Amino acid sequence: MPVSVAIVGSGPAGVYTADALVASGADISVDIIERLPSPFGLIRAGVAPDHQTTKNITKKYAKTLDNEKVRYFGNVEVGRDISLAALREIYDAVVLAIGAPLDRNPGIPGQDKAGVYGSADFVGWYNGHPDFIDLGPDLNVAAAAVIGIGNVAIDVARLLVRTKKELAEADIPDYAEDAILKSAIKDVHIFGRRGPVEAKFTNVELREMGDLENAELAIDTDHIPADAGDLPDRDKRLKERNLETLRQYSEMPRGDKPKTVHFGFYASPVEILGGEKVEGIRLERTAVENGKAIGSGEFFEINCGLVVTATGYRSGALEGAPFDEKQGIVPNDDGRVDDGLYAVGWVKRGPSGVISSNRPDGKTVAGHILADVHGKKPGRGAFKKHLQDNNVRFVSLEEWKKIDAAEISNAQGSHPRKKFITVQEMLDALN
Ligand SMILES: Cc1cc2nc3c(=O)[nH]c(=O)nc-3n(C[C@H](O)[C@H](O)[C@H](O)COP(=O)(O)OP(=O)(O)OC[C@H]3O[C@@H](n4cnc5c(N)ncnc54)[C@H](O)[C@@H]3O)c2cc1C
Repeated sequence: MPVSVAIVGSGPAGVYTADALVASGADISVDIIERLPSPFGLIRAGVAPDHQTTKNITKKYAKTLDNEKVRYFGNVEVGRDISLAALREIYDAVVLAIGAPLDRNPGIPGQDKAGVYGSADFVGWYNGHPDFIDLGPDLNVAAAAVIGIGNVAIDVARLLVRTKKELAEADIPDYAEDAILKSAIKDVHIFGRRGPVEAKFTNVELREMGDLENAELAIDTDHIPADAGDLPDRDKRLKERNLETLRQYSEMPRGDKPKTVHFGFYASPVEILGGEKVEGIRLERTAVENGKAIGSGEFFEINCGLVVTATGYRSGALEGAPFDEKQGIVPNDDGRVDDGLYAVGWVKRGPSGVISSNRPDGKTVAGHILADVHGKKPGRGAFKKHLQDNNVRFVSLEEWKKIDAAEISNAQGSHPRKKFITVQEMLDALN
């Protein structure tokens, strides 16, 4: 009897786990269960719509889904359509690959004002994730602030100042493209409590900011240290590359582009100002000591009508699985959670690293599964019966391929696809 494995979540971590399981050559059957009809998690709904080269990794993932030992069950949410306990009764092993879809609480007084969004929601909105299409952020404001100094903050800032030409090859939904192109935003401030050495931007993302068609960059030269300090060689090289890029930006003569992205290092937001709606932010100047931001007691304010906090993500608790509230992950020992229960990717490690950082998790957990469990439970047949008995309309791989093809053929101009933005639209495309 083959070992039956259910992988919950079809993002990178889920797909890499499936890939490692089938590559092992073991007698195995792997079912990938995904709450949306569309697969691939944050590759579809997190990676910026103007980064199509990155999104192209889904072509590789599609090959894993095509493997004869793998089945895709889209539009099935564990916790809604089947409990985790029931799933564990059916499969020899269950792998949680559910990601970290919630914003970590930034803890800034005033953060509940209208016009303040977590990046999970805001990024989901411009990427057409069905949960966030009604977010309706008001971009008819003069200035926006993005809190955080990592790649997600850069993505948000960049998207806010993109032009029609720059979005021509993006798979951004029409409503988000219209809002961005009609936006009155002239200034986007990126604020971080710490400095350029501590910033988590990758150099590729940082350099892309130098090529914006419509926006100048503003950085205080005094905020760029002469060197990256005492760091291991590789880190030092990467950080010094960023310092060099920032230094070039700070020394560039100011042009006449209508918008400006301001890099505001050493600035800790202490309050979001305004009435019901955000009107500004109050920040405290900081200095970094031993990697920590220390307040200087000097405060300043900026006006802005939109705030996006990009200060990290966390997983949510799934009934039937243990959960570490503090770390926002499912606690695990190298991917092992409980008998026959495993975790990979962001729900296992927390929200860090790049797409390929999820690959080793898949390999490790595939190894654990093959060492720990034997083919004893019914697997796929019993799962399909559960779905049928409970009238769950799952989306198969063949059906996803039809949805995918329809999105591609609906694309206009040089856009690569026109995403369906509701679950119903995706299901309707199958009729
Ligand atoms: C805004 C943003 C931009 C990024 N850009 C880049 C980039 O350009 N380059 C890069 O290398 N990395 C990027 N990353 C990082 C990369 O996306 C992550 O490393 C990766 O997606 C994590 O994979 P994962 O499988 O753990 O989670 P996810 O990709 O989040 O996948 C989790 C999947 O589980 C599904 N799911 C959740 N709960 C359930 C449930 N109960 N039942 C069934 N299914 C469920 C979700 O719908 C989702 O499809 C970005 C991350 C973010 C947030």
